[in-house]
Amino acid sequence: MKEYLNYIDGKWVPSKSGRTFENRNPANWDEIIGIFTKSTKEDVEEAVQSAKKAYKMWSKVPAPKRGEIMRRAAEILLERKEEVATLLAKENGKIMKEARGDVQEGIDTAFYAFGEGRRLFSFNTPSELPDKFALTFRMPVGVFAVITPWNFPIALPAWKIFPALLAGNTVVFKPPSDAPGCAYELVKILEEAGVPPGVINLVFGGGGEVGEALLTHSDIRGVAFTGSSEVGSRIAEVAGKHLKKISLELGGKNAQIVMDDANLELALEGAIWGAYATAGQRCTATSRIIVHEKVFDKFLEMFVERAKALKVGNPLDETTEMGPVINEAQRNKIHEYVEIGKKEGAKLILGGEPLKGGEYDKGWFYKPTVFIDVDPNMRIAQEEIFGPVVAFIKVKNLDEAIDVLNGTMYGLSSSIYTQDVNNAMRAIQRIEAGITYINGPTIGAECHLPFGGVKHTGNGHREGGWTVYEIFTEMKTVYIDFSGKLQKAQIDTWEEQG
Ligand code: NAP
Repeated sequence: MKEYLNYIDGKWVPSKSGRTFENRNPANWDEIIGIFTKSTKEDVEEAVQSAKKAYKMWSKVPAPKRGEIMRRAAEILLERKEEVATLLAKENGKIMKEARGDVQEGIDTAFYAFGEGRRLFSFNTPSELPDKFALTFRMPVGVFAVITPWNFPIALPAWKIFPALLAGNTVVFKPPSDAPGCAYELVKILEEAGVPPGVINLVFGGGGEVGEALLTHSDIRGVAFTGSSEVGSRIAEVAGKHLKKISLELGGKNAQIVMDDANLELALEGAIWGAYATAGQRCTATSRIIVHEKVFDKFLEMFVERAKALKVGNPLDETTEMGPVINEAQRNKIHEYVEIGKKEGAKLILGGEPLKGGEYDKGWFYKPTVFIDVDPNMRIAQEEIFGPVVAFIKVKNLDEAIDVLNGTMYGLSSSIYTQDVNNAMRAIQRIEAGITYINGPTIGAECHLPFGGVKHTGNGHREGGWTVYEIFTEMKTVYIDFSGKLQKAQIDTWEEQG
């Protein structure tokens, strides 16, 4: 079995620890996809020093030239889309259609970065004094630690690494232990595309060891993290203490509102896709469905009928509609939440247990699950379950629907199905979330728009589009005085100076 190595200073090297860990297929736990080197603080040290050394050179390469390398990476990823998507489906459990989408998001982001190489716009503005220019430049930050979760193993590292490199930073990438294979492929593609040694470094290993070593390293200037709010909060504490630039993209408890005037067929398509894509393991997954009382019974019946008929199984089979969850611990966590829901008094009307028998016994499959009689304050309606579990909540009107939607500590994605333009506008205005879809599900972000959330979903940054460059650049303000004399801002007047 091939052993996958770290990538440090342009070389594929094993960890000094000599230890390894396995990457297994969640649909068939007997299948080992690869053996990966397990790194320590010492390996992190080498990777950071390599990135620090390369920064001097890379930060001086003109952005359009850095962009050309991103374009080559996009082209290679496009050529290998099917191969990478197949690996992704195997190690992450996403169905093929979604795995291709995950890779496509990486391709789109790389092409966007290529274009950004000829933009990286900043502002200039008039000075308050004569014969003086005032302008700004976007400068790179330095060495960035990129730490990502397993649920989008190509898209999420791509969202961070392409803009980070385009902006002139160098990177030490710590991928998730549960989906390290895609990280290897992505870095290999960057190497082939011509990224110079040291500019991207890859260190496999656990969050506690490799992750923590990055957070406290004095040569790491920024940390770009996507993952749970729990780990995000730890990162804010540890890296924040070391005064690093930190961007955090964290959990969600997203809801779809279905109004009494909604096109119910359309709302159904959206709700099923939002709730059960990636087996509910998306930060933007629909885990609450808030339905107007007038259409509640009808919509619930439609939903349960569709959810019951979902084909759950091997992600590589093109007819499969939902794959397994990532691992045993995740499946146990989902099941614990189902038990909590029952104890709290919610009524389980579909699923609520692992799938058993045949191929199901080999992997971590869980039945599409539906709860009704859910009080908005119950834990199953408040906490991120990260599985194929939805809570139906009945409401009397739009105001109540929005209050329920807003009533959690998270604020990532949201959706409303309505044919009434005023309902839609009120929802846009009142919903507390980073993203609101009108007549679309809570999932489906496009790479060229800002992505992120409010409240405990993050710390105010937005990935995606042009806003991600706020994370990966520092603004340099420049004043150019060509008056030939000392001009004092706020003190001299233009009449005196002119
Ligand atoms: P996680 O447990 O927080 O792990 C995320 C990453 O952090 C992994 O690489 C993990 O390493 C690492 N890590 C763990 N402990 C660490 C520490 N003390 N210091 C530094 N790094 C550490 O999240 P997950 O279970 O992989 O992913 C699911 C979560 O991600 C959900 O909450 C989901 O909502 C969120 N998510 C958010 C977004 C968004 O954009 N808002 C997108 C996708 C997912 P190991 O793998 O080695 O443990």
